[in-house]
Amino acid sequence: MEKNLKAHCNTCLRETNHSLLHEEEQPWSEEVGYNQLIYGAETFNMIKCCGCDSVKLMHNSWFSEMVDESGQPYIETNYYPPAISRAEPKWLSDVLGPLSSTNDVFIVDLFREIYSALHNNSRRLAVMGIRALIEHLMIREVKDNGSFKKNIEAFQDAGYLSKKQRETIEPILEAGHAAIHRGYEPSPEDVLTVVEVTESLVETIYVHSKKASKLKARVPGRTK
Ligand SMILES: [Zn+2]
Repeated sequence: MEKNLKAHCNTCLRETNHSLLHEEEQPWSEEVGYNQLIYGAETFNMIKCCGCDSVKLMHNSWFSEMVDESGQPYIETNYYPPAISRAEPKWLSDVLGPLSSTNDVFIVDLFREIYSALHNNSRRLAVMGIRALIEHLMIREVKDNGSFKKNIEAFQDAGYLSKKQRETIEPILEAGHAAIHRGYEPSPEDVLTVVEVTESLVETIYVHSKKASKLKARVPGRTK
């Protein structure tokens, strides 16, 4: 009979029913002192989402010395590829088309690398990537004004960023820059904040403006 279990799905972005394709359990035990035994198990489940058919490995791990309040072993679950809470936006692939410039390709490629850093919980790399992406966008749209601070100012003056957005992302991006030199680790919330603002920037500049110019081309001009 087919066995089902609940697991996080990266495509459905929530916990869904999965069918168990293969299970490998590796129990272990170790004597740590006179007559004292610790034990546990590593379980590897190859699972398939019943909603979208994507396949991944679920790794459950527990051991006798790690228990919850009721004395039950605490089971740690990790997924390969890792569980993600943020998927690449659907419009990202719309940026590319037969008429894409090398700049469009660069934006999409860099963005994809940022998501891949996020999915591996490489938060410092994600923030550094975002800073590089925003820097590139600013220089393209408002020319280079000499420094990150001046560029972001010009970017806000040109209407790409609201005052509030700038106030939220500037300190995180500044700190992200510091990550290259010092021990700094952005929190998951900080990373999510800069990702959200960057998504809306790229969507405004590359998706909405393209749609608007296409629409302009389709709608006949008014005749006098
Ligand atoms: Zn799924």
